[in-house]
Amino acid sequence: MVSVDSDKCIGCGACASVCPAGFEMKDDGKSHVKDPKAPCVGEAISACPVGAISQ
Ligand code: SF4
Repeated sequence: MVSVDSDKCIGCGACASVCPAGFEMKDDGKSHVKDPKAPCVGEAISACPVGAISQ
């Protein structure tokens, strides 16, 4: 299961930038999983500077 740890997420937007199909930024300033099956999820995990995305 793909999840974003909102305590770790710094809201940089990198995951939604490299993987817009999989993640979206919401009003709370954090990233949220949109589609855990998006093929680019792995790229987003690599792009996250704080390791907030787990799979
Ligand atoms: S890349 Fe990581 S820190 Fe940046 S918005 Fe996504 S989950 Fe949050």
